Amino acid sequence: MSSQFAASPFDAWLVDDPEVSRLLGREAERQSTTLQLIASENFTSPAVLAASGSILTNKYAEGYPGRRYYGGNQVVDEVENLARDRLTALFGAEHANVQPHAGANANLAVYQALLDPGDTILAMRLDHGGHLTHGSPASITSKVWRFVSYGVSPASGDPDKPGEIIDFDQVADVARRERPKLIVAGSTAYSRIIDPLPFREIADSVGALFMFDAAHPAGLIAGGAHPSPVGVADVVTLTTHKTLRGPRGGAILSTAELAKAVDSAVFPGLQGGPLEHVIAAKAVAFAEASRSEFRTYAAQVVANAGALGAALAEAGFRLVSGGTENHQVLLDLRTFDAELTGKVAQEVLDRAGITCNRNTIPDDQRSPFITSGLRLGSAALTTTGMGRPEMEVIGALIGRTLQHRDDEAELGRVRAEVRELCLGFPPYPTLAGA
Ligand SMILES: *Cc1c(COP(=O)(O)O)cnc(C)c1O
Repeated sequence: MSSQFAASPFDAWLVDDPEVSRLLGREAERQSTTLQLIASENFTSPAVLAASGSILTNKYAEGYPGRRYYGGNQVVDEVENLARDRLTALFGAEHANVQPHAGANANLAVYQALLDPGDTILAMRLDHGGHLTHGSPASITSKVWRFVSYGVSPASGDPDKPGEIIDFDQVADVARRERPKLIVAGSTAYSRIIDPLPFREIADSVGALFMFDAAHPAGLIAGGAHPSPVGVADVVTLTTHKTLRGPRGGAILSTAELAKAVDSAVFPGLQGGPLEHVIAAKAVAFAEASRSEFRTYAAQVVANAGALGAALAEAGFRLVSGGTENHQVLLDLRTFDAELTGKVAQEVLDRAGITCNRNTIPDDQRSPFITSGLRLGSAALTTTGMGRPEMEVIGALIGRTLQHRDDEAELGRVRAEVRELCLGFPPYPTLAGA
């Protein structure tokens, strides 16, 4: 490996493919020397890397433990059972399916398990923070099912009651009017706690099922920093790679009653052979998330987002909803500079070594490709050990970068400071120099 930064525990085995080896080395350097503030990303443990790089990738295992279509699955069955048992224990769920290749697949499988084509689903508006799989015109979900939506309350301008939080009156009104068969809670860009209880009440009042999409807060829920939707929602979907800090993938938790429908919707309904190497890595991550250190981590993620948000407010940005209660900070760039778009801000920050993504803000006047907002997340940097002092430095660096966005020399100076900061918090200290 040409880079001093390790990309995996198995770097040395890539000598026969110098092209891929070089690319992995470059990516390891990027992840180690720039600030990872994408809210949906994290740094897995070396153990998760090892399991997901393992020989389980060789095995076909269509079906479920004890009911596979191919032979040779004795060990794989134990791996998948371990992952399922650890996941149900972690969240106190009755049933778990750990096969979804991604969060999007988990959502699709649940819709398929619970609904008929054409049925109505009530979910969060995309421009208020909903996910593509919550009925985007570009997603197959909107072609198969009929989506209606709720959003957040308007921004009030009053710092004590800033608004831009889920409007439960609207959820109830739309539910009464549209009679959805399924209500979906969950969001991809929303910095507040999502309380599952009011959703449950509204779902019961109209006879709807309730799915909680915990793709983002799964780790905060596992770590006790957010209320759990398990036992409240009929089904909970999650990704394993965001705040939960496992390998890239999805999972579904459900009541025992819905177990069969969920399992057959995942396979054979939606997917073929499961990724058992990823499932082993999920098992590793679920065990990690059940330790007391993970509770400390989840609390620190929330504290760090708060510190980052405060530093950014200090630098002149407006925080959508006036603050944060999770791992995300959603910035309205217009108060900082009315001309600055999310697209330009993302590009300039990238040049300074600060990685984040543009995002629409509620009722954004700009298109989803341009946007007036930025979404930042604290989950990955918290894993490296950064805390409040670093969040304050980063908030100031973001302000400086965007202030001096046409000044290449200043961007270069920020980049050097970012590199120095990151080198003090290596994501993989035990792999370094491998
Ligand atoms: C990230 C996300 C998903 C999908 O996850 P992928 O693994 O990218 O498919 C689903 N729902 C929400 C709310 C998300 O934020």
